[in-house]
Order: sequence, then structure tokens, then C-alpha cells
Amino acid sequence: MVARLLPPQVHVFVRDWLSANNVLLKSPAGHVLVDTGYVRHAPLTLALLASPRGLGGEPLAQVVNTHCHSDHMGGNAAVARAYGCGIAVPEGEVAAIEAWDGKALLLDYADQDAERFTPAAALRAGESHVWGDLEWEAIAAPGHDMGALCFYNAEHRILISGDALWEHGFGFVMPPAIDPAALPATRVTLERLAELDVRVVIPGHGEPFADFDAALERALSRVEAFEADPLRLARHAVKVILTFALLDRRSLPLAGMADYVERVGIFREFNARFFGMPPADFAEFVIVELERAGAVRRDGGLLRPANAAAG
Ligand SMILES: [Zn+2]
Repeated sequence: MVARLLPPQVHVFVRDWLSANNVLLKSPAGHVLVDTGYVRHAPLTLALLASPRGLGGEPLAQVVNTHCHSDHMGGNAAVARAYGCGIAVPEGEVAAIEAWDGKALLLDYADQDAERFTPAAALRAGESHVWGDLEWEAIAAPGHDMGALCFYNAEHRILISGDALWEHGFGFVMPPAIDPAALPATRVTLERLAELDVRVVIPGHGEPFADFDAALERALSRVEAFEADPLRLARHAVKVILTFALLDRRSLPLAGMADYVERVGIFREFNARFFGMPPADFAEFVIVELERAGAVRRDGGLLRPANAAAG
């Protein structure tokens, strides 16, 4: 297990695709939690945090976020309420959080939810913070989220990468027609990360992994494929967002899918800009692509995530 390469004060709660991983950095000087999962999972996040492997009844000093998507900050409010602690978010996210901008934060715009919170502090790229008795440098990681940060500990060569780098890929990136800076920034971020000496990556989703170079190589070749065909970014984004909604809602009625892609902003806007299909055709197109990828299945009148238990 790669997690054994981590020093004892670093504990990773590996979650799933609806909730990002939670990284607990323990120290007698005050425990710090990186990312809090999705709002629907807040009770589980709190239970994990309170468990003996977590805080075991001790206080939490601070919540910090790699970036402010709903699967990373959705539990912020619940955790901060339970422990009376402050929340620090990347500087580039502060304005969207303070305005609770449902489009910039991909909330109602992407049919996602989070409980509103007020950040107590901003984290800036280039700064270092001592969390869990370790020094973590905040590294700008724009691309999937333009305000995102990674956190790097040089002593143990650990990278907390958020959604900037997974073992197989990275979080979806906005097409150039929506944000011309996003895909170029994704490449720059990966090239910057490649300069680091990394032994273990703690990604936002999936198990911690050791083969940093192979992950970077896969990520860069994915960037290349997107650069060659930016429409792939649009297809990828709508598939990811619909899969997420299905994990959140567990199912959606197939008969309502045409209305759904007209009602939810990101589907409506992406269809208008990139696909130009009647809503029913667009919904069917996205569903068929996801079926082909093995991500969803039709179950009577319902669309469900492929691997979710019925009910
Ligand atoms: Zn994200």
C-alpha cells in the first residue's frame, strides 16, 4: 500500500467520485483537514473525522481546500460547525465563495449542491504552511479549476494534488470557447508539477499512488489529445457532469432527460455552443456515450450509475 509511504501524521480517507478524498494532517499544534467531500456525504465525512483513525474526539484547528468544487468543499460548513474551526480557501476562489456564485462554483449551473460557508482565510501560491508538523508549499495549479492549489511537502516528497493530477487523468477542463485559458493552464500546471521531486501523490480522487512520472505522462498525452480536438473537452465535460448528477441523485427519470438538459445551465449552454441538437437528441447522445463507457445503465424508466445498487 502506497499509503504506508506516508508519515504517520498524514491520514487519507479515500472517498469516491461524489466526495473528494479527505486528508487529515495531525499535529499536537492543531489538526488540519484538506477537503471535506460532497454535501450529501457530510454525515459520513463527520463520522470518519470523529473515528479513532481520524480525530478520535480531539479538536480540528482548520479546514483547507485544494479548490472550491462541490465535491471538495461541500462538507466545509458541516465540519466547521461541528468543530468550531476556520476555513481557508485558495485566494482565487474567495470572490466566488463570498458571492456564492452558482455558475463559477458549478453549483446550480451543473445541478450540484453545497452548503454555503464563509472563508476565514485565503491561501496564496508560493506561501508555505505548517500543517501536521510538515511544511506544505502551496503551488498554483490552474486548469480544471483556475484558482486551484496543490500542496507539496519537500521533506517526504508528498504532493496533495486535488483534481490537477490523478493516477489516470485529471478533472474535466472547460473548452477554449468557454475559457480560453483553461487548457493551456492545464499543460503549464502539469509541466510545473513535473519539476517537483515526488514520491507519493495524494489525489483528490482514487488511492494515493507512487508512479508520479507515469501519471504525468498519461495526463500530458490527454492534454495533447484535447489540444488536437477541443470538442472532446465539451463531450468529456457533459459526460462527467451527468455522471456526477447520477451519483448524487442515484437516478434520473429517462422521460425527463430532455427537460433536464434544457433546465441545467451547463447542458443547455454546451448544447447551444457545441452540439446544436434538439434537447431530446442531445440527452440521448450523452446517455449513449456514457453507456458505451460503461458509466450508466437504463433500468426501466430510470437512468442510473452503472455500478450503483438498485434503490
Ligand atoms: Zn474539481
